Amino acid sequence: MTHFRYQNGELHAEAVPLSRIAERHGTPCYVYSRAALTGAYRAFDAAFAGTDHLVCYAVKANSTLAVLNLFARLGSGFDIVSGGEMQRVLAAGGDPRKVVFSGVGKSAEEMRQALSAGILCFNVESEGELLRLERVAAQAGRTATVSVRVNPDVDPRTHPYIATGLKQNKFGVPCRDAPGLYRKARELRHVSVAGIGCHIGSQLTEVAPFAAALDRVLELADRLQAEGIALGHVDVGGGLGIRYRDESPPAFDEYARVLTGRLGRRALKLVLEPGRALVGHAGILLTRVEYLKHGTEKNFAVVDAAMNDLMRPALYEAYHEVLAVSGGSGGGREYEIVGPVCESGDFLAHARTLALREGDLLAIMAAGAYGMSMSSNYNTRPRAAEVMVDGALAHLVRERETVSELMAREILLP
Ligand SMILES: *Cc1c(COP(=O)(O)O)cnc(C)c1O
Repeated sequence: MTHFRYQNGELHAEAVPLSRIAERHGTPCYVYSRAALTGAYRAFDAAFAGTDHLVCYAVKANSTLAVLNLFARLGSGFDIVSGGEMQRVLAAGGDPRKVVFSGVGKSAEEMRQALSAGILCFNVESEGELLRLERVAAQAGRTATVSVRVNPDVDPRTHPYIATGLKQNKFGVPCRDAPGLYRKARELRHVSVAGIGCHIGSQLTEVAPFAAALDRVLELADRLQAEGIALGHVDVGGGLGIRYRDESPPAFDEYARVLTGRLGRRALKLVLEPGRALVGHAGILLTRVEYLKHGTEKNFAVVDAAMNDLMRPALYEAYHEVLAVSGGSGGGREYEIVGPVCESGDFLAHARTLALREGDLLAIMAAGAYGMSMSSNYNTRPRAAEVMVDGALAHLVRERETVSELMAREILLP
């Protein structure tokens, strides 16, 4: 169910016309639907209802405090990849005992922070990390709970930049090295083994790679159990895709059925780290047409959002649907939707047929995941405002940045 719909020819977020948000808060502006976020979380969680599980929303997909706070209120845990994300989760009211910490490059300081917050688990990605964690935990007089992220060498059949579970990727520990690492972990005094996991990539549109990866991880888990290394959970990572164009990713229920089926009767809690699947369709990027340039080769609609606001098209040649906020009259021309940034890679969409006039509003759809969280200040562009709609109310949840904020930490030579 979509929460961004036309009513009387005008695109709305829930009950609020997008044009009203543009008037009040300006553009570019990210707009989220509270009902869409809540609905996605509840549906995902419900799909695993019969199984002991914990949903740890992957913060990097959208780390805006109001979004994290909403998930915290719904009982979600969190998957973090930095100390900064740890602080965001705490600031948003998240429960540190439901936090798992992923990532290949955890610093000693990040480990200290996470230990003192009392997180659920460190997803360890190398022997060096395990040994550093032991040292840091010893100094802090604490015990670090760990799970090894194995690299199952499974092809997720997604964009190469977001494939993470192939042996040529930097992520995880090769399956054949994992038992040795667990034996080592068992010897350490400030580390306690809790689980095993993987995360093979993002925007997966088939269920088979998830099943293949989980099979490899479970095979390892069984071997470890047989050696007397008891595990409490298996973390299947995130990566479930969404429909941007014509993909048909597995539904939550199908995904859950396949995973829980593989798990069988093992006494392992299932940890899930969905990011995109919970937030992708819950947000749009609202932008205004600045100029129309009708050329002999191509027509350009120059809009006020750019690659610094939404990087996915430039980075992955990702497709986002583009809708005219005022329904449009049909007809129109084929446009390249481009931003003001000085790069030819600065496009939001190619070859879209739209009837446009300067000043029109456009909605870049399905921009809730890896939109704002990947945005930058390139070209000294202040980052966009963010609004969360809840029924007939539109709440500003992040003010637009100002240029003086961007310059605030810079120092001229004497
Ligand atoms: C990015 C990431 C996720 C979330 O991926 P989605 O494709 O957004 O679901 C989960 N776990 C880890 C370790 C990640 O790096």
